[in-house]
Amino acid sequence: MRKLIAGNWKMNGSLAANAELLQALRAALPAAPAADVAVCVPFPYLGQVQAACTGSAIAWGAQDVSVHVAGAYTGEVSAAMLRDFACRYVIVGHSERRQYHGESDDIVAQKARRALAAGITPIVCVGETQAQRDQGDTEFVVKRQLAAVIHAVGHCVSEIVVAYEPVWAIGTGRTATPEQAQAVHAVLRAQLRAAVPSERRVRILYGGSMTADNAAALLAQPDIDGGLVGGASLKADAFLRIVAAA
Ligand code: PGA
Repeated sequence: MRKLIAGNWKMNGSLAANAELLQALRAALPAAPAADVAVCVPFPYLGQVQAACTGSAIAWGAQDVSVHVAGAYTGEVSAAMLRDFACRYVIVGHSERRQYHGESDDIVAQKARRALAAGITPIVCVGETQAQRDQGDTEFVVKRQLAAVIHAVGHCVSEIVVAYEPVWAIGTGRTATPEQAQAVHAVLRAQLRAAVPSERRVRILYGGSMTADNAAALLAQPDIDGGLVGGASLKADAFLRIVAAA
């Protein structure tokens, strides 16, 4: 199966910096790269990214979506709006949203459902904190987070992408070892196999301090189908090296 390398720009960028980064990515990426490539950008830049990436191998998406369809929800952005900008992906349930914006498993599941209903692939993030890992709760936590989404989307679960992002590895420079990541991916794989009615393989990305140097070892694991890349997606050179490792 084709791997997916998705950049998560988080709250970074500017019109000028994005133009430079996207130009560098477009110039260096082959027309048909060996892996799928995407960038998930702040809402205001979706138009810019759409204009810069249309006709290229780079897909794009957002980092959040509203649980609401339309109406009096000040500050919210709907799935239909993301579709207006031809988003292929939207990240839902990133740990920074769960942590700083109080997003529960149920809210994350509803967001995934909204995205799917609009024809957008949700990249559903799951992952444990350091304290949860220390208590031996990793498996319990990620299965609970994924179960909420499976419950909400039913057979459409075959259309989602999952990202395992151990919270303790995000932006910390502490990457999960390939063995630690593979162990959790195998748990998620089993849970998905039981839920997906077809033989279709749901992609499970790893995220958390993925770099040009550690990507190849992580991506070589049997159940790691790509990466969700934060910091390293802001530098063309680093991001391209991760794509090449896939
Ligand atoms: P990081 O972020 O690569 O900077 O650790 C990954 C993410 O949060 O998606």
